[in-house]
Amino acid sequence: ASNKKQKVGQQITVCVRKRPLSYSECKAGDVDVVTATEGQCVIVHESKKTVDLTPYISQNKFYFDHVFGEESSNEEVYQRTAHPLVQHMFRGGNATCFAYGQTGAGKTHTMLGSSSATPGLYILAVQDIFAHLTTARLYPHLLVYVSFFEIYNGQLFDLLDHRKKLFARENGQKVVQISGLREIRVDSVSSLLEVVSKGTSQRTQGVSGVNPLSSRSHALLQIQLKEPNQQNAGRMWFVDLAGSERASDAKERDKRRRMEGAEINQSLLALKECIRSLDKKASHTPFRQSRLTQVLKDSFVGDSMTCMIANISPGHSATEHTLNTLRYADRVKEL
Ligand code: ADP
Ligand code: MG
Repeated sequence: ASNKKQKVGQQITVCVRKRPLSYSECKAGDVDVVTATEGQCVIVHESKKTVDLTPYISQNKFYFDHVFGEESSNEEVYQRTAHPLVQHMFRGGNATCFAYGQTGAGKTHTMLGSSSATPGLYILAVQDIFAHLTTARLYPHLLVYVSFFEIYNGQLFDLLDHRKKLFARENGQKVVQISGLREIRVDSVSSLLEVVSKGTSQRTQGVSGVNPLSSRSHALLQIQLKEPNQQNAGRMWFVDLAGSERASDAKERDKRRRMEGAEINQSLLALKECIRSLDKKASHTPFRQSRLTQVLKDSFVGDSMTCMIANISPGHSATEHTLNTLRYADRVKEL
């Protein structure tokens, strides 16, 4: 089964990351049903019943470019996922890294980190970028700019500018531009940290109740390398996607929830199709099918590099969402 994946070049990488069972899950009696030993295979042990109601365990096996078990650190994940993308950016390319999965599966832990002791990919990438800029004398002149915005219900909000509403338009050269998007120059890892934590606080503002807004929106962090004359010299995106379970809110009775769910569903389906078309070097990429894919248009053309990290929860109670995530991730690369 892993054969088909190897035919594809290094342009698209699809990985799975399993998080550990949490203390509260253990206490509530949930059990780990996912085997993800370091390598390429992940197995979900699903409890089922035969027609005469005899219980049995069905094993669902999936193969990916890499599978990270619960013991793997953000550094290890970084080395295999975003690090090659950063190198691609230094060659002047475009690169995109997605965290996909159910709410609570570990997307934000992967992207942002859970504490200063576990810095996520944003920070590890910027550390890597500054290490490149200062050690490799090839690039002493390049400047680093970041922007950070959210897509909620098809609308763009600038997280670095008081949630200012933004608009994405295609210009005459068919380049998608986000007018008014704030770009902040960072000159150190600590200034990046400041910018990201400011943006993150904007993300969660106004949240009430148990369903954080962050699970219903996509957060996009853009890191650009620029020449002193502002010409682009490489770009990379980190996308912390909306909770994939929200896509099923499309069946919800509450109208607002239903609309949000439908929008998330549409954007995740469009994303899958756009990444797949990159793989096939297709002449047509359906990037106009959602705001997310429209904004990321450049990520689906030419020599862009893409990495998807499908985050999964280990618990029995999450089995259905876990299987949905693995099926989605599998389809992203299936030829
Ligand atoms: P999501 O962003 O997908 O909703 P989070 O990243 O917020 O999920 O993770 C949910 C909880 O699980 C957080 O408390 C987080 O710290 C914890 N967690 C997630 N992934 C890991 C991991 N690999 N190791 C340890 N704790 C993790
Ligand atoms: Mg999150």
